[in-house]
Amino acid sequence: GQLLKVENLTKHYPLGTGFLNKTVPVVRAVEDVSFSVEAGETLCIVGESGCGKSTVARLLMRLVEPTGGRVLIDGTDIAGLKTHELRASRRRMQMVFQDPYSSLNPRLTAGQIITEPVENFERLSRKQRQALAADLLRKVGMRPGMMHRFPSEFSGGQRQRLGIARALALQPSLIIADEAVSALDVSVQAQILNLLLDLQQEMGLAFVFISHDLGVVEHIGHRVAVMYLGRIVELAPCEALFANP
Ligand code: ADP
Ligand code: ADP
Repeated sequence: GQLLKVENLTKHYPLGTGFLNKTVPVVRAVEDVSFSVEAGETLCIVGESGCGKSTVARLLMRLVEPTGGRVLIDGTDIAGLKTHELRASRRRMQMVFQDPYSSLNPRLTAGQIITEPVENFERLSRKQRQALAADLLRKVGMRPGMMHRFPSEFSGGQRQRLGIARALALQPSLIIADEAVSALDVSVQAQILNLLLDLQQEMGLAFVFISHDLGVVEHIGHRVAVMYLGRIVELAPCEALFANP
């Protein structure tokens, strides 16, 4: 069924603070964007730098407040949720970022990093934490022994596997991947994309996959939304968009 529904989403960032009764000029980062994502589906959002892709991701996670429009998860408008309900709905959606290193705390071990989202909800015993870490590492194709190491010892691809393991910790239905393979070598990109496809097969995960790289999108997407200057200018099945005329 329909997991995520986005209706007329709009985000204007104020430029400066304005003064007296002067109108504040704005950046129209996202303008009247609508789409939906089914369970188990990959919707790609493509477009050149600055077209509003990351802002859409931040709006989905409610990391920024929309200027207008709605985001519904399983039919529930996240704007109406109280803090604890918002936390519960955020469990359903997790994010994977471009540069996992910048979002991984260098003082924590891999095991601590990937189990932290769960520990924000419930206290785990040492034994429980280790079992969870081992399970998550296996899911992303890493040896459980890696849980004791620090991310600085890992390659770019391994760090992105950690980022994905962390996103899986709360058993989400949807992962928002914002340029998740863009910083990686092409061969490592392919490994990570295949991992995401395998996880989708096994767990029925849905993805909102944000990328500027059409080659990557063609490999992983079911449907593609093309953004230009804050708007979706085309939304089509992947085969239709990449069909040779
Ligand atoms: P993309 O992810 O496609 O590169 P972004 O969503 O990052 O696009 O940015 C869309 C537009 O909004 C750009 O013009 C960008 O400069 C602007 N923008 C993004 N974040 C902010 C912000 N916090 N304040 C002001 N403008 C912003
Ligand atoms: P990306 O291209 O990866 O989206 P950006 O350079 O657009 O990276 O954004 C990096 C950060 O800077 C984001 O947190 C975004 O909100 C902020 N940002 C982007 N553009 C602006 C802007 N014009 N004014 C203020 N903050 C901005």
